Amino acid sequence: MTRHDDRYRDSGLARPGKVKEVTSLTNPIVKDLRALAMKKFRDQQGAFIAEGLKLVIDALDLGWTIKTLVYSKAGKGNSLVEQVAARTIAKGGDVLEVSEKVIAAITRRDNPQMVVGVFEQKLLSLSAIKPHGNEVYVALDRVRDPGNLGTIIRTADAVGAKGIILIGETTDPFSLETVRATMGSVFAMPVARATEAEFLSWRKGFSGLVVGTHLKGAVDYRTIDYDGKPVVLMMGNEQQGLPDNLASACGKLARIPQQGRADSLNLAIATGVMLFEIRRNSLQLGSET
Ligand code: SAM
Repeated sequence: MTRHDDRYRDSGLARPGKVKEVTSLTNPIVKDLRALAMKKFRDQQGAFIAEGLKLVIDALDLGWTIKTLVYSKAGKGNSLVEQVAARTIAKGGDVLEVSEKVIAAITRRDNPQMVVGVFEQKLLSLSAIKPHGNEVYVALDRVRDPGNLGTIIRTADAVGAKGIILIGETTDPFSLETVRATMGSVFAMPVARATEAEFLSWRKGFSGLVVGTHLKGAVDYRTIDYDGKPVVLMMGNEQQGLPDNLASACGKLARIPQQGRADSLNLAIATGVMLFEIRRNSLQLGSET
């Protein structure tokens, strides 16, 4: 490193079009990135973190806006990392080369990935959702657990659902834990947010089938005809299940029969069982895209 480069080291100053090298946890840029672990700062910055080179490449390919690319020294000289760095700079983003200690602190992991991307948050507006054909959406009432939400986003992606509607106060789809659990599907699956009242008003203009799942549902989920119409699958909160006003907005209330001692299924598991049934006739081996 030259004396000129020293001026920039740990200063937080950009070398235009170049990579900033940062090794100190007290660097202000690193502090901002570490703050992204907290929802308040994610919302303030309109940003979130995704971990892993493949995820970052997929996100760029899908048109997500990268604000900052961070890679550890292990990524230096890796041609894929260099390509992603060039794409980031071309889009006006920053690129940081950091120590493993810094990347571990940003992602709060002992064994961090070599590459982390900071992306702009993107949500779909509920009014833009106009399901047609045999499209499937998943509506989640006050989902609390980031692992459940991430798993549902991943599963919805895997069955070819078109989007997720988050109703009421839910866990943040852009938290580290949720994004991690989506395994990249956060970039493929549009997510909308709505209050309960907004959802109920949107539902009035939706002429497809809304299937709610309810432990008191009288209908076996396998007896419903899901084909040839758009379907919104509505799932209840982990603790309380679906409240009455959402349940009564459903065209059908379905139950997954159970045996044994468990009162109910885990929310993400129940969503998976339902989604594969709803999409039974649309999914075939050999026709995966
Ligand atoms: N104590 C809650 C209740 O009484 O509804 C349990 C909620 S359960 C953990 C979370 C959600 O998963 C439910 O609201 C429902 O949407 C779905 N679910 C779980 N087991 C189900 C089953 N056997 N049949 C239908 N839906 C189920």
